[in-house]
Amino acid sequence: MRLHTSTWPEIETYLERCKGIIIPIGSTEQHGPTGLVGCDAICAEEIAWEGGRRGDFLVAPTFNVGSAQHHMSFPGTMTLRPSTMTSVISDWALSLAAHGFTHIYFINGHGGNIAPVHTAFAEIYARRALDGDQSDFIMKLQNWFDLPGIPELTEELYPVGAGSHATAAEISVTFAAYPEKEDRRVLDPKVAPEGSITDKNRYRLDFPDGRIGSDPSQSNGADGQKLIDVAATAMVGDVAAFFNS
Ligand SMILES: [Zn+2]
Repeated sequence: MRLHTSTWPEIETYLERCKGIIIPIGSTEQHGPTGLVGCDAICAEEIAWEGGRRGDFLVAPTFNVGSAQHHMSFPGTMTLRPSTMTSVISDWALSLAAHGFTHIYFINGHGGNIAPVHTAFAEIYARRALDGDQSDFIMKLQNWFDLPGIPELTEELYPVGAGSHATAAEISVTFAAYPEKEDRRVLDPKVAPEGSITDKNRYRLDFPDGRIGSDPSQSNGADGQKLIDVAATAMVGDVAAFFNS
């Protein structure tokens, strides 16, 4: 069940049986020459939608522009400042809390979002504490690529060139979602260089085509479907436990 394609009476009815909601959270940033700019948002929403369908959970709109300053040397990337992102996450969460949602589960597709989302959680909890709010309200951030079974499946599918940005796994998930975009070109070098991230200028010098450590010529829709299946199964269990906590 998706918030965007529900009516308000349907949301009211949902709230009578469940006070939890899933928010997919991603980014709009380059993912190498063959990866989609929306990759991180697409991965989070595909897994959220599949898990939401299986578990009959409500899924909020995708938070699809995140913290991605280091990718700004590549066309199409959009970023929020960490301070902006913290404010916007807070307003999303407090809007839902105002309607009676007590448990918000963020399923995340982008490492750069982790710090600002945790800062947002601290802001929200502090604000509620200072307002003397006694009602129950908790949030959780879960990276889809850390869900039980996903690191193991990734290792099995891509023993070489799994990568840490424009990863073989995340690009497979997008090819499962958008088969017409499947592009298995071998890039040069086949496996991208490894390294650490600082600012946008140094990023493009260190990682000229945008990838870090990955060989996405291995990516394909069939692998993506397997990854979505394992991630959705793990997420349903995790969400159910969280909503009942
Ligand atoms: Zn990504």
